[in-house]
Parts: sequence; structure tokens; C-alpha cells
Amino acid sequence: MSLPSSTSHAPLIDRFGRVHDNLRISVTDRCNIRCFYCMPEEGVQFMNRAEILTFEEIERFVRAAVPLGITKLRLTGGEPLLRRDLPWLIERLAAIPGIRDMALTTNAVLLEKHAADLYRAGLRRLNIHLDTLDRARFEKITRRDDLPKVLAGIDAAVAAGFRHTKLNIVAVKGLVEPDIVPLARYCRERGFEPRYIEFMPLDAQSLWDRRSVLTADEMIDTLGREVGPLRAVPDADPRAPATEYEYEDGGGRVGFIASVSKPFCLNCNRIRLTSDGKLRYCLFAIDETDVRDLLRSQASDDEIAAVIRANIAEKWLGHEINSAKFVAPPRPMYSIGG
Ligand code: SAM
Ligand code: SF4
Repeated sequence: MSLPSSTSHAPLIDRFGRVHDNLRISVTDRCNIRCFYCMPEEGVQFMNRAEILTFEEIERFVRAAVPLGITKLRLTGGEPLLRRDLPWLIERLAAIPGIRDMALTTNAVLLEKHAADLYRAGLRRLNIHLDTLDRARFEKITRRDDLPKVLAGIDAAVAAGFRHTKLNIVAVKGLVEPDIVPLARYCRERGFEPRYIEFMPLDAQSLWDRRSVLTADEMIDTLGREVGPLRAVPDADPRAPATEYEYEDGGGRVGFIASVSKPFCLNCNRIRLTSDGKLRYCLFAIDETDVRDLLRSQASDDEIAAVIRANIAEKWLGHEINSAKFVAPPRPMYSIGG
């Protein structure tokens, strides 16, 4: 395969005309809880330390990617707050000229301790993963009794100055129906935006089944009836993964990530870097490109850029969740970085 030229700073455009400006970086595959739709309960084989990119290697990668048009970063995992000195990385990444937006996705179990340091380091946007306000159901979903810590973490984030926080709720049919309305009200009261994410076939135990997906349409219907009338946001960013709705009474926004019922692949602007340094053009990609060896071998920025371009050149039109051809990726969610 001949690598496309990388010397120009032309944007990262794939065969289908999609421009990529958004990089999701997983900083660890480890996690302190065990959500059933992501991780197995026991026996997880985590990567060893030498396999994981150092913060310097991550920074180096981002510096090589920014001239190609990457302007937005999201740090994720596994649970990113398990990575020691994360504020140091945030400070370094925020200082890279060209980075305009950075967000962190976290389960918030450790947020109480870290919120102020994250804010001081320059982080301004949080997505907090919380599927229920009911302690018993939280334990059932995550196999840990940590709801009080998560709620304390959310309070600490507000106290530290974080605004416009989003709540990630994984919509599993037959499970979270009792939670979607209480979570919507909790968000309305606090000025948070809930994001209901359809359950995707990325769990470690192959539990996913089409019938276990609570669809965006079902949730829009329930929330519109029980919380308040909703309307689609007219000027929403078409490249954002969430379909945005707003309460007609001005009570805030609600997002739906309808990856299964209404895939948004045609607008995808994202690439992903796993914690062990593999580049993925899609959450569901089967193939991935190693960049860790390059980062560890004094490769030039141009060489790294060429590998990024080559990965994007291979990007498919979209995942095939809704076709018989669909094959789930070999890595579960915690190992890719959601
Ligand atoms: N540990 C952090 C957390 O839970 O937010 C960051 C990593 S986690 C893999 C990122 C997001 O993936 C979570 O917020 C959750 O909403 C989402 N997620 C995990 N498994 C999923 C699945 N099978 N289907 C849909 N979303 C999933
Ligand atoms: Fe951990 Fe996040 Fe996966 Fe839950 S979704 S097990 S919090 S990595």
C-alpha cells in the first residue's frame, strides 16, 4: 500500500468527503466499575504498563495530528481518572496551538477528588456516565455500590466550576425505562444535558441483542409525554453524534445517540487512538493501525501524519449493525475508548 502524501496540511478527508477534526484518546483500558454492557464481571486481562502510551507519546501524537485539522479532543478510557496525573496531560494538550475544545468522559467515581485539579488544568467540558439514580439498580448495572461517590463527584464538578455538563445514559431495553424520566428531571434541575445512548454491540460478553436496544424514538416519546414537550433543535450541528432536542418550555436540551436505530455514519468526523496506540477510524472498525511503534522510534511528524492519512483513506462508509454482515469488533468498549 502506498501512503498518501502527508507533507501538505490538507484536512483529513476520506473517500466519502468526510472531514475529520475530532480525536478521541483512550488513556487506559482499566476501570474501577464493571458495567455489564462494557466489561465482564471478572477475569479482565488489562494491558500492561509498557503497552500503554505515555503522556509524552500522546502529546506527540496530538501535535502531529493538529496540522491535519484535528481541533477537538476527548479523553476517555476505560476510566480516565484512574490514570495518575491526568491534569498534567490536560494542561499539555490544552496548550497545543490549534486545539479548540477538549472534553473528558468519566464514570465520576473518582471525580470528587479530581474535579478541581481538572478544572485548574484547563478542562471545561465533562460527560459523566450515569444510568440511574437508584442505588440498587446502579449496583446491578455496574456491579459496584458506588452511586454515592458518583453523586458526590457530580457535586464536586459543579463546585469546581464545570458548566453544561452532559450525562451519558446507556439505553438498555428492559432495564433503564424506570430511570430515563428521573434522570431527565435531575438534569433539568441542574442545567445538565442528558444524552441517551442506544445500547451498542460493544460489550465484552456478547450480550447485545437488537431487542435489548431502547431506541431514541421510544425515549423521545416518553420524555415528551412525562417531562415536557420536546422539539428538534433547528440549528443543531449535523456532524455531532447526538440528535438534539429541546424542551418547548425552555427547560434545556436532551441528546439522543441513535447509533443503532438511526446511524449517523455519513456525518462522522471522528478518529480514535486506543491506550495501546492503535488508530481506529470507527468505533466498530475491525482493522486498526499501530502508531505506538512509530511514536517510540523517533519517527518524524510527517511519518506519523502519513499513517493517520492512510488509516482515514481506508475508512468505510459506515458500520453495518443493521445488516446480516455485521461483525462486532474484537475489542470491547472499555478497550477501544467510548
Ligand atoms: N469510563 C468512562 C465512562 O463510563 O464514561 C469512559 C469510558 S466508557 C467506555 C465511555 C462511554 O461509553 C460511557 O459513558 C457509556 O455511555 C458508553 N458505553 C459503554 N458501553 C456501551 C455500549 N455497549 N453501548 C453504548 N454505549 C456504551
Ligand atoms: Fe468502566 Fe466506562 Fe466501561 Fe462502565 S462504560 S465499565 S465505567 S469503561
